[in-house]
Amino acid sequence: MELRLAGVTDTRVLKALETVPRDVFVSDPFLEHAYDNRALPIDCGQTISQPLIVGLMSQYLTLAGREKVLEVGTGSGYQAAVLSRLARRVYTVERHAPLLSQAEARFAALGLTNVVTRHTDGMKGWPEQAPFARIMVTAAARQVPEGLTDQLDDGGVMVMPVGDEGQQWIMRLTRTGHRLKTERLLAVRFVPLLAGLPGDGGTF
Ligand code: SAH
Repeated sequence: MELRLAGVTDTRVLKALETVPRDVFVSDPFLEHAYDNRALPIDCGQTISQPLIVGLMSQYLTLAGREKVLEVGTGSGYQAAVLSRLARRVYTVERHAPLLSQAEARFAALGLTNVVTRHTDGMKGWPEQAPFARIMVTAAARQVPEGLTDQLDDGGVMVMPVGDEGQQWIMRLTRTGHRLKTERLLAVRFVPLLAGLPGDGGTF
């Protein structure tokens, strides 16, 4: 109800949020806050997004149910699990291996068979699986990585936070042929999208 009042009006998205148990994606010290409408810390210094933001970003992606979706930034796996209820298949990538294995165990425990994972630098997308009808990035970059828009199918939609530590906006890019329409939708705060794998340092 709170999320609906705050703008999540798509009934499929509301249903997906209802059916994915967020407590499965939150670890011990924060379990009692699993159903609070706030972001929470997860391992490797990252965060599981606020349910409202997960709902709005899922809604911005305009999913009908048959799409092939790329998510960059698996984190806890919560957003990927929500997307798995809204699309045909979700390809989710994460640069922190420990986060990815925890997320994989959660997908298996929930019987989510349409989520596939990869340990990689998601700035480069998943070239072997491209093009994607939808792309969602859940970490913020100063600019939209060209490597990702290149993997967006004709008519495809990509949603991601763009900006620096001071100010970030959820942007939606819609591809028509070689044209990309850009919309600025919502002010947000996300962890940074970092290039490379953790061992290489990582640059914003
Ligand atoms: N969607 C997640 C949100 C996690 S926070 C959830 O629902 O819990 C964003 C995640 O993006 C972090 O786990 C971070 O490690 C990851 N990330 C940042 N830069 C990345 C990159 N270049 N490639 C893949 N993952 C990245």
